[in-house]
Amino acid sequence: MKVIVDLYWYPKFEPVSHILGRGLGGNVFVLNQGDQIWLFDVGLSIINRSNYVKKSMEKDGLDPQKISKIFLTHAHPDHINAISDFKDGGGPDIYLHHDDLDLFEMDRHEWLKDQVRRIEKYWSVKSITKIFSRLITFFTWWTMGKYPALDRDAVSHPWHKDQTIKGDRYNVQLIHTPGHTAGHAAYYIPEIKAVVSGDTINPRFANKPALNTFNAFSDKYEKTIGLIQNLDLEILCAAHGEKIPTGKEHIQRIVSDAQNYLSNAKKIVYEKIENSGNEGLPIRKLRNILPSDAWTGVDQKITPLVIAMEFIEKRTIYVQNNRLFFP
Ligand SMILES: [Zn+2]
Ligand SMILES: [Zn+2]
Repeated sequence: MKVIVDLYWYPKFEPVSHILGRGLGGNVFVLNQGDQIWLFDVGLSIINRSNYVKKSMEKDGLDPQKISKIFLTHAHPDHINAISDFKDGGGPDIYLHHDDLDLFEMDRHEWLKDQVRRIEKYWSVKSITKIFSRLITFFTWWTMGKYPALDRDAVSHPWHKDQTIKGDRYNVQLIHTPGHTAGHAAYYIPEIKAVVSGDTINPRFANKPALNTFNAFSDKYEKTIGLIQNLDLEILCAAHGEKIPTGKEHIQRIVSDAQNYLSNAKKIVYEKIENSGNEGLPIRKLRNILPSDAWTGVDQKITPLVIAMEFIEKRTIYVQNNRLFFP
């Protein structure tokens, strides 16, 4: 469906939002450059989604054969699972920030190991956490299908530096926006003041930031939200939104919501540890401490730990025997 001239949106909930939980992917956005078509994220392959996207494009008068570039916001399966479905027939250029290439190559078992590796630097992972992690990997497989785990060579254009890619009708600015993942990117189209913002801000859940894996970084996230705040925006193309927010003020409000949720979460974690005194705070007590209007299920378990790990890395706090202390 058309958002504005030459910018199209193929919503994650069409033709169905999911079948028994299968098919929970991200939105796909399309920019018509005339002789070329540029895609932003490809969403899921399961429940025949990519074919549906292609058919919907044809209905909108866009020829999927003309897809010449695919810009990936990051390498999570809900955004890249269908990449092979779009790679055949012409082989479009694929853009992904260099720092997400490792993630791009991981299957779900490697992904789980990678998650555990970061936590184990600081505290021992008990079996209960392992079971919890396995449940998460099963859940992600069920809802989003396989991690494509393609070789990094499939990414024809891994990029390091922010840059502008010139098109016949529109230019696209590649902006590194780490936080949700190390190599997360936003793609800004200045001519129409639109940004494809991936998972930097989630309008689906009260505009909170998505710090929902152990490879997220809250400090980087904060800078990223600042970057988005500085863009001149009329259209916010978020990966999991169910509407496309438009208008400068509306979008500014969404972005400052994200900022507030993030700084508030950090404050809550900080104070929880501070109030524990000389006893220190057992790590398990960091669960379920965030406001439940925005932080749901998995966030309640993961987000406070992500924030605590960064406090440890900055030596704001230290950890001993699975307890957190102020120095
Ligand atoms: Zn993601
Ligand atoms: Zn996502």
